[in-house]
This record gives sequence, structure tokens and C-alpha cells, in this order.
Amino acid sequence: MTGFPVPLGGYLRISFIDWTGHVAPVLFLCGCNFRCPYCHNPELVTPSGGRLPVPEVLEDIRQRAGFLDGVVISGGEPTIHDSLPEFLSELKSVTGLRIKLDTNGSRPGMLRSVLAGGLVDSISMDVKAPWKMYARITGHGGGPVRESLEILSLSGIPHETRTTFVPDLMSLEDLEVVRDQIPPGSPWIIQPFRGGRTLDPSLEKGTPPDREKLKINFPDAIIR
Ligand code: SF4
Repeated sequence: MTGFPVPLGGYLRISFIDWTGHVAPVLFLCGCNFRCPYCHNPELVTPSGGRLPVPEVLEDIRQRAGFLDGVVISGGEPTIHDSLPEFLSELKSVTGLRIKLDTNGSRPGMLRSVLAGGLVDSISMDVKAPWKMYARITGHGGGPVRESLEILSLSGIPHETRTTFVPDLMSLEDLEVVRDQIPPGSPWIIQPFRGGRTLDPSLEKGTPPDREKLKINFPDAIIR
């Protein structure tokens, strides 16, 4: 079984919420090229965040495949790993399951590659901020994410876009700019910031957004 070097930092054996309408395990790959201060998975941001045995995990999923609807690949940021296409291909052939990929959209070339290879069946992509605020919020410019969003919206693959709204970092006006960046036909989910453990400890007690206000101001968005 697989010898592809993906750094597996977490394995949730079953989830009912990470892929809408699907019962699916979630694999968390370590390492991320962004540094979002509100990140709830700080242990997965650096590549040294853990090494679970990939062959054993794939075998566990294979044995339960008859009870599962798919597998979610999350992170960290899965697309930074050049071995991702080989890993997805192996995951599909070993388990026979459909795959959803979570991505921050920072590597459009990798996105093109997994789409062209038919290696994923659904994608959730973050659109974290207005393009001009990207560097401040994530540590990276928004150009590649913009390119990925265009690829995704033209791909025909089931997908959704997601924005975590952190009032300490963005205003409602900024969120309106994000909304206007989302292509028509691409579902948009707003994830209200909840506090708790964060990459930047100063946000641990950050201000949570007013959900009702979000619902009123963004009636076309899904508030999660
Ligand atoms: S929230 Fe930001 S820093 Fe954390 S894993 Fe996602 S893209 Fe990386």
C-alpha cells in the first residue's frame, strides 16, 4: 500500500458535518503556506505536526467503505504537497470512495491537476478576504486564490466557497467586498468566528459576530 509521503497529522474516523449530506472520515494533512491568525488548527500549520501511519488509515477506511459516502481531505493545506495527486489516486483506488478536497486556493496549478485527473468529486475553497486585504489576513497575496476561484467556477465540479468572518479583522463592508468576489453560481458559506484556540493567541477571546445581523445583511449566503 501507499508509500506516498503525505504528512498525515489527524484522522477523524467519522464526520457528519464536513461534507454536507455525506458520512465521511476526514484526513488532515499537516503544513500550510498561510498564517491566518484565527486558524483553529495551529498544530496542523507546520509540517512537523504529526505523522500518522497512512497505510493503516487507508486500510481502516477501506474496511468501512460500505458504510461511508466519501472521504474529506483537509488540513493544513493539502495542495502544498506535490505528492497529493498520487495520494488521491491511491485513496480512490483502495477505498473506491468519492473525495472532497478542502483548500485555501493558493495553488491553482495543483487544483488544475487534480481536477484534470478526475481525482476529486467536490471542493470547498476558502475566500478569506477582499483581494487587497489577503496579504494582511493570510500572509500571502490573493492573486493565486483569485485564479483558483475562476478555475473552480468554470470546472463544473460540485463546490462551495467559504469565508470565516472575524470582526476583529474585517468589517461588514469588507465582507460585502468578499461577497462580490464570489462568482454567480458558486455557493458561499459564512463561518462566524467562534474564538477558542487560535494560531494568534490574542484572538482566543476575539469578538464573535452577530449571527442575526449576518443573516439580514447576507440573505443569499449560508451561515454555518
Ligand atoms: S485557517 Fe489559514 S493557516 Fe489555518 S490551515 Fe487554513 S489556510 Fe492554513
